[in-house]
Amino acid sequence: MRPGQRAAAAFAAAHGHAPVGVWSAPGRVNLIGEHTDYNDGFVLPFALPNRVAVAAEPRSDGRLSVASLGDDGRLHRTEPVAVSDLGPGRVTGWAAYPMGVAWALRTAGVPVGGVELLIASDVPAGAGLSSSHALQCAVALALLGLAGREVGAEGAPGRPEVARWVQRSENDFVGAPTGLLDQTASLCCTAAHVLFFDVRSGCGEQIPFDVAADEMAVLVIDTRASHSHSESGYADRRRGCEHAAELLGVPALRDIDPAGVDEALGRLPAELRPLVRHAVTENERVLRTVAALRAGRLDEVGPLLTGSHTSLRDDYRVSCPELDLAVDSALAAGAAGARMTGGGFGGSAIALVPTAGLASVERAVAVAFAERGYGAPRLFTVVPAAGAGREE
Ligand code: ADP
Ligand code: MG
Repeated sequence: MRPGQRAAAAFAAAHGHAPVGVWSAPGRVNLIGEHTDYNDGFVLPFALPNRVAVAAEPRSDGRLSVASLGDDGRLHRTEPVAVSDLGPGRVTGWAAYPMGVAWALRTAGVPVGGVELLIASDVPAGAGLSSSHALQCAVALALLGLAGREVGAEGAPGRPEVARWVQRSENDFVGAPTGLLDQTASLCCTAAHVLFFDVRSGCGEQIPFDVAADEMAVLVIDTRASHSHSESGYADRRRGCEHAAELLGVPALRDIDPAGVDEALGRLPAELRPLVRHAVTENERVLRTVAALRAGRLDEVGPLLTGSHTSLRDDYRVSCPELDLAVDSALAAGAAGARMTGGGFGGSAIALVPTAGLASVERAVAVAFAERGYGAPRLFTVVPAAGAGREE
C-alpha cells in the first residue's frame, strides 16, 4: 500500500471514520548543486517516488495532535499541544517538525486551529533523502487545506511561499540552519523533470530528465551511515561561507565571478579558500549539467557528478568513508558518474549507471561494503516523481 492509503486506513482504524483529507510530499535526490542553496546559488533536484503522507481532520479543542505510523505498524503518538502555545524551543523530538510547521503558518497569518494528524511514510528517515522536509511539506499542505487555502486553489499561497514558511519552521522552530533546497524540491518538482532552481531569484525551471531514453538509470546508494557531527559540520560550513562572503565584500558566494575565483581566493585566509572554491565551481557544474541536459548530451553529466563529489570530499570536506566507498566502487564497476547527495557526513550517494551494467554495479557496491566490514547499503533506482499535493 502507498503511504497515502496507509495513512487513511490507519486514521480510520484509530478514529472510526475517514480523515477529512490526505496530503503527501516526496523525498528528493539532488542531482547536483550541493551546499549551494545557502550561498544563493543553483540546485538541480528531483522528487522521489517515496513520499510522506498525512491524513488529517480538524479538532475542536484547539490542540495539535500528531501520530506517526512506524514500520512495525504501530502508532507513535506524542502529547497534543495547544496550537496557541507553540513556539521555538517548546517541542523536541520528531514532533518538532509537524508542530514547527503549524507555528510557522500561524505566524504567517494562516488560520491554523486544532488538528489531528496521522503520518505514514516510505521515505527512509535519516538517509539524506530529506524525509524531514517531505514530512514538513506534507503537513504544510494538510494545514493549508484544512484552513481552506488548498495550495493550487485561487487565492491560496503559492508553492515558493510555502517553501519559505517550511524553511522558517526548520530554521527558527526546529533550530536547523538549512537552506531552501529541500522544501523547494518537495513542493515544486514535477514528474519526469529535474528542477533547475535559482535560490536567489526564486525562479525554477523544469528540465526534462529521462535517463531511461539513453539506457541509463539513477541508482541511489543509501550507505545507512550517519555521523554524529553532521549538524555541527553543516553549521560550520555555512558560517565559513558567510564569513568568506563578508571578507570578499559580496552579498553571497554566488556573486563571485568564476573567472576571477583565483584572485578572490588570494584575499582569503587559507581555511576559507576550499569552501569558496567548492561553492563557485559547484554552481558552474550545475549550469554545465543543465546545458548538457538541454542539449541531450547525457554523456557529459556523469563526469560533472563525479567532479561534484571530488569537490565535496576534498574542498568542502562533507563526505565520509562510506560515501567515498559508494562512489568509488560504483565508478570502478562502470558507473558514468557518482556523487554524495544531500548534506553529507553519511546518508546517500547517487550513481548514473548504464542500464546494462546496473546489476554489476549494484553487486560491486555491495561487495565493497561487505569487504570493508560496513553494514549492507540499501540500493534502489529512482525516476523523477510528482511534487507535493492532495491525494484524497
Ligand atoms: P533526512 O531528512 O535526510 O531523512 P533528517 O535527520 O533531516 O534526515 O530527518 C530525519 C528525521 O525526520 C527523523 O529523525 C524524524 O525526526 C523525522 N521524520 C522523518 N520521517 C518521519 C516519520 N515518518 N515520522 C516521524 N518523524 C519522521
Ligand atoms: Mg532532513
